[in-house]
Amino acid sequence: MGDRVGYLSQAREAIRGSFTSVRFSKIYETEPVDYLDQPWFLNQVAEIETDLQPESLLEWAQSLERRLGRQREIPKGPRTLDIDILLYDQKILAGEKLTLPHPELLNRRHVLVPLAELAPNKEYPLSYQTIRQALDQVKDRSQVKPYAPT
Ligand code: AMP
Repeated sequence: MGDRVGYLSQAREAIRGSFTSVRFSKIYETEPVDYLDQPWFLNQVAEIETDLQPESLLEWAQSLERRLGRQREIPKGPRTLDIDILLYDQKILAGEKLTLPHPELLNRRHVLVPLAELAPNKEYPLSYQTIRQALDQVKDRSQVKPYAPT
């Protein structure tokens, strides 16, 4: 919510400043899926290299969310910035604070479309299908469009 493009741009800058080999997908404008009565989201996927372990990477992401003023009153509702870790190498983890791969990765077109742009041939660690195959099979029909500001 708010200055969606501005929040994303600040997040990209913070990511570029903290990690190496950074690549970003295009920005996509995506229809809400759970809580429908809210504006569309902007989504973007980043690929990075880091020495941080997954839990520390999550802490880094959460501190950036706080720094960019994350507010959210309704679960799954409007928010300023939400950062999820989708994949971390081929790691599988079911921790109290962190699940890898991200538990909704295979169910969401708004995740799979930008991820497939960056890494179509990457294998999903739990089923050994590629991201492209997962996108071909996803049941979610919600709209995901390249963002074209008017
Ligand atoms: P969210 O609604 O996206 O802000 O996520 C809320 C909680 O999900 C966070 O407090 C995390 O501890 C937890 N979580 C579990 N797995 C992940 C993941 N792969 N990426 C981001 N958050 C995660």
